[in-house]
Amino acid sequence: MKFINPIDRLLGMFSHDIGIDLGTANTLVYVKGKGIVIREPSVVARHKKSKEILAIGASAKKMTGRAPSMIDVIRPLRDGVIADFDATAAMLSYYIKKVHESGNTFPQIPRPRVIIGIPSGVTEVERRAVAEAALDAGAREANLIEEPMAAAIGAKLPISGPEGNFIVDIGGGTSEIAVISLGGIVLGRSVRVAGDEMDEAIINYVRLKYSLLLGQPTAEAVKIGIGAAEIGNKDQKPGSDQKFTVVRGRDLETGLPKSIKLTNEEIQEALSPIVQEIIGNIVDTLEEMPPELTGDIMERGIVLAGGGSLISGIDKAISDAAKMPVWIAEDPLTCVVRGCGMCLEDNGLLKKIRVTKGL
Ligand code: ADP
Ligand code: MG
Repeated sequence: MKFINPIDRLLGMFSHDIGIDLGTANTLVYVKGKGIVIREPSVVARHKKSKEILAIGASAKKMTGRAPSMIDVIRPLRDGVIADFDATAAMLSYYIKKVHESGNTFPQIPRPRVIIGIPSGVTEVERRAVAEAALDAGAREANLIEEPMAAAIGAKLPISGPEGNFIVDIGGGTSEIAVISLGGIVLGRSVRVAGDEMDEAIINYVRLKYSLLLGQPTAEAVKIGIGAAEIGNKDQKPGSDQKFTVVRGRDLETGLPKSIKLTNEEIQEALSPIVQEIIGNIVDTLEEMPPELTGDIMERGIVLAGGGSLISGIDKAISDAAKMPVWIAEDPLTCVVRGCGMCLEDNGLLKKIRVTKGL
């Protein structure tokens, strides 16, 4: 029988071990034994001069495009790298403290063990800095795992076996593409083309076609409402599944507010270059893959996670281009944090994968 230090055993019984998905768009927190307790946008509002943090999460996101000039509204991990370390640390520390202090009569002891999923493009130096920020926030141990690995675990893929698994996590700032086998990432790439670029593409399309300027939150709402990578199928009558939405923006000629109607076909056209770029990267990764693993993927297919996988028809578009089956993971927005949670619940699993450890 394995010997567990009695102090560790006691700490384990009382501490709220935490899993965190530090995403470019959303931060989610999982508490061992409880499940997902926090789901907030990865946004921080900070005073420009005094550097005081004014808001974190949903209340900070509401300030996007509305804040006065002395307030910076920051997405600290926007492009899958830590663009603003202080804001990242503030966010991490806020959530760790919030979870640790709520429902804990003695918040100082015992301190939680934390597993953090971070974009795979984050450098080794930044990883250590994030782990240290977690320790500063009160964690007794901090482990960092790469998001595609956590997403694959959350999607219940058999990552520790010898067969290959192909995961594509389409988030806000980055799409993470990874081939995983034997508990490690065999091949992977992190491309800065995902949900944010889709919003930008809608803004550009509407500006060019209608001379109308949309705000980012409006463009995102259009994408979520009627965004599509593919519409209908050959058997349907053309136009039979048309959807539309009315948006309001600023007319660039008159400078006044104006509303227009947008159809799902127009949004598909706007999103097409972004979808094609994601598909191009998936196909390139498939071509770079060791041949032994290609056979596994042909059989098992590609698994999609992240908010971007909810664009209607994106699974079919990828499947047509890659000529293999494509599945959308269950509840794709929570795969990474559930993967971190599964590592908390099962120590053996954590030992099978590569992690960066804070002391
Ligand atoms: P990250 O892991 O980078 O934080 P997420 O996986 O949380 O990103 O996904 C966020 C992205 O997914 C955003 O760009 C958001 O607009 C987009 N998104 C969320 N829901 C949908 C949906 N139903 N359809 C299309 N895009 C969506
Ligand atoms: Mg993510």
